[in-house]
Amino acid sequence: MQPLEHGGNPNERRSPVDGTVTWAGEWASQQEVFNSIHRSQVSFRSWSQTSLEQRIEFTQRYASFLHANRDAISRTITMETGKPLWESDLEVLSALAKVDNAIEAILKRRWTTSEGIGSSHSTIRYQPLGLMVVLGPYNLPLHLPGAHIVPALLAGNTILFKPSEKTPAVGDWHLKAWRSTDLPAGVVEMVHGAVEQAKWAVGAPETAGVLFTGSYAAGKQIHQQLAGRPECLLALEMGGNNPLIVDRIKNRQAAIATIIQSAFITSGQRCTCARRLIVVDYEENKGLLEELSVAISKIQIGNPTSRQQPFMGTLVSAQAADSIISAQQELEDRGAIVLNQSRIDASCSAQITPGLVMLPKRLGNDHEYFGPLLTATRVQDLNEAIQEANRTRYGLAAGILTDDHSAYHHIVKHIRAGIINWNSPTTGASGKLPFGGTGASGNHRPSGSFAADYCSYPVASIETHELTLPATLPPGLQGIF
Ligand code: NAD
Repeated sequence: MQPLEHGGNPNERRSPVDGTVTWAGEWASQQEVFNSIHRSQVSFRSWSQTSLEQRIEFTQRYASFLHANRDAISRTITMETGKPLWESDLEVLSALAKVDNAIEAILKRRWTTSEGIGSSHSTIRYQPLGLMVVLGPYNLPLHLPGAHIVPALLAGNTILFKPSEKTPAVGDWHLKAWRSTDLPAGVVEMVHGAVEQAKWAVGAPETAGVLFTGSYAAGKQIHQQLAGRPECLLALEMGGNNPLIVDRIKNRQAAIATIIQSAFITSGQRCTCARRLIVVDYEENKGLLEELSVAISKIQIGNPTSRQQPFMGTLVSAQAADSIISAQQELEDRGAIVLNQSRIDASCSAQITPGLVMLPKRLGNDHEYFGPLLTATRVQDLNEAIQEANRTRYGLAAGILTDDHSAYHHIVKHIRAGIINWNSPTTGASGKLPFGGTGASGNHRPSGSFAADYCSYPVASIETHELTLPATLPPGLQGIF
């Protein structure tokens, strides 16, 4: 057996907003990860036997804690991610809404059903899988891990959660919230760490499922690590390179506001942000890109904690900002025309202005630029727009702005994506709907209201209350009595 590895030296996380330390501590050692897994596995035996009513009560207590600490949690989200306070507050509200939505989903989608068939019954019940490892991203560090943890717990699973290494302080709020509910020990465990800690948890033989939200690169590595373990459930929510088509529109201002919200909310750090604007060359769309460019130059960017409430705060780190500037440069080198130059703010290295670049036709470009950089292309007609939209290996979100109903109904049949919005931002999502993508965006385990499905497995039973000898026996058995 290999000697256990140590988790590493003390770590600290500094805020992208002002450089203050938001968290300090040590990443978990391999032994600590295994201890958490052991506690979680032991507690599964009793937790999986609790009633749904009891589990609902725990999740409601968790929601009460979030509600009571709403402002403090929002502030931590802002300091760790750099998003403005109003957005962090919306994230806390989404995490709260997730509890009601997950309860509704499990009641709707995973309730025991039974139907009479002759003198018997056919019954479907649902059983939890066991210990679920939840791996979270940094961009919605409260809401997205919660979107896996809450449905998994309601279904009777136990959890080992590893928050993003970029948002450990929000991770600590998760743990505080669950501890405040008096959950039995081991039902929700958390370890701090980076990729190494995640790999130890994924690779543990006791792990019954991995619920991951993050990049395609990481999702692929987890898939590879689990190769040869088909019994382990894997739900991957990954990135996107999301198209937004502008078709025939009457209200140009509404279109510009929707494009800006789609591309630049959370400084472009949402998986569903529009990355590729595709404008159909109709007469009514002439001058749209120029007007969009002017509007983009007026977006308010600033300190995310300020009372003035900017639309964009900082990115998660100076490196994230640098990677957007490099991507812009690379596109420019390949012939793109920069309409709005993304620039790093002189006073804060994690803060950048939103960028808009015009791509020459058919410039092969299928990277997910996870920041405020929107590319634009012009096309002749709707069919070319669909072709352009589908020129990606991803398939998370897509959108169309059009007053023509038939255009929307046409694209919904031809664009390959798990979320297709009409006249609303690509980032618009409802907790009552599934949330996930196809292609490199997911492995067909959509989250949102469908998370209830992969958190349990169905048990099918043919039930006959009294054992009786059938009137007829199959050929070859008639002579046995
Ligand atoms: P990331 O992939 O770098 O990290 C996500 C989590 O996975 C972290 O906890 C990280 O420690 C862990 N991780 C990284 N590599 C791993 C590996 N090889 N094995 C096991 N765990 C590993 O993602 P990020 O930078 O935090 O988040 C941004 C990405 O997440 C973007 O690509 C974005 O599109 C995507 N995202 C997707 C969704 C969705 O629902 N589809 C939602 C939010 C973000």
